Amino acid sequence: MNLLRNSSKGRRLLIRYLLESNPNHERGPCDGENIENTCVVEWLRKLGLSKYEEIFTKEEVDWETLQWLTEEDLLGMGITSLGPRKKIIHALGELRRKNDNANDTEADVLISENTKRTKGPMSGNKLITEFFRCSSSDQKQRDHKVQKPSTLNNQKNSSAKVASSRSRTRKAKVKDTPLWCCIPGTPFRVDAFRYLRGDCCHWFLTHFHLDHYQGLTKSFCHGKIYCTSITANLVHHKIGVPWDRMHVLPLNKRITVAGINLTCFEANHCPGSIIILFEPPNGKAVLHTGDFRFSSEMANNPVLQSSHIHTLILDTTYCNPRYDFPSQEIVIQFVIEAIQAEAFNPKTLFLIGSYTIGKERLFTEVARLLQKKIYVGAAKLQILKHLELPQEIMPWLTANEAESHIHVVPMWTLASFKRLKHLSSQYADRYDLIVAFCPTGWSFGKGRKKTPGRRWQQGTIIRYEVPYSEHSSFTELREFVRFISPEHIVPSVNNDGPEGADAMLAQLLND
Ligand SMILES: [Zn+2]
Repeated sequence: MNLLRNSSKGRRLLIRYLLESNPNHERGPCDGENIENTCVVEWLRKLGLSKYEEIFTKEEVDWETLQWLTEEDLLGMGITSLGPRKKIIHALGELRRKNDNANDTEADVLISENTKRTKGPMSGNKLITEFFRCSSSDQKQRDHKVQKPSTLNNQKNSSAKVASSRSRTRKAKVKDTPLWCCIPGTPFRVDAFRYLRGDCCHWFLTHFHLDHYQGLTKSFCHGKIYCTSITANLVHHKIGVPWDRMHVLPLNKRITVAGINLTCFEANHCPGSIIILFEPPNGKAVLHTGDFRFSSEMANNPVLQSSHIHTLILDTTYCNPRYDFPSQEIVIQFVIEAIQAEAFNPKTLFLIGSYTIGKERLFTEVARLLQKKIYVGAAKLQILKHLELPQEIMPWLTANEAESHIHVVPMWTLASFKRLKHLSSQYADRYDLIVAFCPTGWSFGKGRKKTPGRRWQQGTIIRYEVPYSEHSSFTELREFVRFISPEHIVPSVNNDGPEGADAMLAQLLND
């Protein structure tokens, strides 16, 4: 799945792409030393977006870096027009799907030429758009598909069902809103700002990641937004939504909204993220996980332990056995030990990848346990001040880079050795070794041993991929579903329709 991460295999896929797009393989601008950058330019031209060549060249986006770009990165690079940005994200998804298919074929041959393998349900667009799921046009296709009957309904070994007929009836009434954004038995929508409609005035936001708040603008006028205080702060300061449009939800306390009881719990995802238990008058409770990582706190939560959940709307980002990565604690310990091991040279610069919101626990734990300041930059420090981090953490974070040799940087800037070499040259007078950590669950896939990190080195640059995830691993998803024991499950990620959803959930439910 992640062949592009391996430079030699990634290059083979790049060549495959070139051959497909230029079957005669005539000599052209993609031949020669600068093959990868030039091909990004060629790729943009094919999309009719040559006006952005300069931006991609200036930011040194090569073929490998390309796969890491998120919509947020594109915005940060200055691609502010919605149309071109969506076009790029869609094309990246297509490219990645091709790579996944090629990878699966190649890996299958390597594993066993005689063993027929069932292809997993991962659609693959989550890496490219980790926080940015499918476009609304894709969504419409998926919504159409999901109305077909579910084969899982007939399974004997599980009480859970997918996409019930009741849900389908409801779906018919709300044509443009995906199942996983609707709460049956209530007038509520969750993470559905792309589908704003006048027939709803209660909009829940589980957390401040773009694929969940996308569509929300400062002129929001469809009623109230319900979210935690951290998320409300970010919505106000980053988007400009007035406070009187928001209703702050408490944690671990049952409240009533529009006559319906609901309770929010920490989702163990990013700061301010919640899972929400809705208890409508019809007695059919709905648990919406938003994005979450199953934790021991959830397992010990008496409300979750005692509630009978009718419908579970589940974050299925890593719903595939290949994603059985270790706990955050193990990965944090690995990173700390790696920093200690690599720090024999006092002129070493450590880089830790992060998103605008996300992965905070990794670098704050590094700061706390090593008792070292971490440089986060002025803009990120401003955001971190809204996240209600523990008071003792803030003094360890600085916007003065001279104060620290551990720097938090955008994830995509660590995607390739080429980019790291560029960074290295900028710091040449102060550091002579760069050690970069790329934390993502996607670094842990099929055929890889369950290790808390992998290390590569090119000259004076060392690059670690660490499976630090803020989503549940496959094993954790199985445990969570067993713990909740719902009657129906609606996958909220990689839900390509009933067949894909059934296959995904069958893996969760089968013994
Ligand atoms: Zn998220």
